[in-house]
Amino acid sequence: MKRIYMDHAATTSTDVEVVKAMEPYFSLKYGNPNSIHSFGQEAREAVEEAREKIAHLIGANPSEIVFTAGGTEADNYAIKGIAWANQKKGNHIITSKIEHHAVLHSCQFLEKQGFRVTYLPVDKYGLIDPEDVKKAITDKTILVTIMHANNEIGTIEPIKEISKVVKKAGVYFHIDSVQTVGHIPIDVNDLGVDMLSMSGHKFYGPNGVGALYLRKGTRIVNLIDGGAQEKNRRAGTENVAGIVGLGKAAELAEERLTQGKEKKIVRLRDKLIKGIIDKIENVRLNGHPTKRLPGNANFCFEFIEGESMLLSLDMEGVAASSGSACTSGSLTASHILLAIGLPPEIAHGSLRLTLGKDNTEEEIDYVIDILPGIIEKLRALSPFKGNWEGLN
Ligand SMILES: *Cc1c(COP(=O)(O)O)cnc(C)c1O
Repeated sequence: MKRIYMDHAATTSTDVEVVKAMEPYFSLKYGNPNSIHSFGQEAREAVEEAREKIAHLIGANPSEIVFTAGGTEADNYAIKGIAWANQKKGNHIITSKIEHHAVLHSCQFLEKQGFRVTYLPVDKYGLIDPEDVKKAITDKTILVTIMHANNEIGTIEPIKEISKVVKKAGVYFHIDSVQTVGHIPIDVNDLGVDMLSMSGHKFYGPNGVGALYLRKGTRIVNLIDGGAQEKNRRAGTENVAGIVGLGKAAELAEERLTQGKEKKIVRLRDKLIKGIIDKIENVRLNGHPTKRLPGNANFCFEFIEGESMLLSLDMEGVAASSGSACTSGSLTASHILLAIGLPPEIAHGSLRLTLGKDNTEEEIDYVIDILPGIIEKLRALSPFKGNWEGLN
């Protein structure tokens, strides 16, 4: 059976060109970039070249890029690092109810240490209102951390508008850009952010490597103590192969974005959304109709449980997800779907299909073809009866 992958928001394949670029740094060019000799110099050059490519992709200066072990570490570093470095100024942090757990749990950790956190609500599309940010800022606020786009429902937040409010108040602004880097054009100066998190495995790079963009002059405390790597900001011998892979992924992403390749994904996404809404009754699109990630389609189907849909789809060769990868397996409804106002019984029936650069028209047609039958079968078996009125 042909297998179809539509779970790109959970992770992407590592591009063959990325793997090729990484390979020499395992067994041939294995020097420690902090060593003086030629092996070390070779590795150092590779790390700095990768830093330049990543900086270029987001309009930053290479000296403002700090490598981390992924998106989760970048989020932890930004949030805890700013909180600890600026606690004399204030103890208040603003975030939203729909953040990734890397952000939410970092904020909750800080609350236990005496920081105060405001979790902003979102509208039915998952959008944060810049006015709400403005109202939440007090003279104790030291950080606003908001995701660039949501990993589950794909909504892209009005970062530029939020930035205006945050900057006017003289507060640090961090965005979790893990879902957007490499997928939509980004310029940190145009967006007006001080910090931005990214992760390699969400845009065809390797797992376990990411970066934090840290605007020059930002007051931050380190998370990892040890050697003087990353200009004293992140200790530990560099993951040279991983960093080279992240750099290559950034270079390839920039090429795709320059060529407007994400438009093909948007077209396939819209075809998928239309096909499913046209062919299935009592289905609802979650997230914003247009302000959404190129590859994201997310639905709720009345009377159906998400896990059963995933299992049925998997038996037909289609890999999808319900809620986010981290929450599937637990029985609580997604905090994101609850935040956009869905009742738990509807939120349980969610299906996320996330497309990547290699998905084809035929694959879209196949999913549109098989899904109605799956839904019909599951509905016939379903014990759930909920109130669907007024949800669309
Ligand atoms: C995947 C993801 C993360 C975590 O990144 P890792 O590299 O997997 O640690 C953080 N935020 C968002 C929005 C994500 O989608």
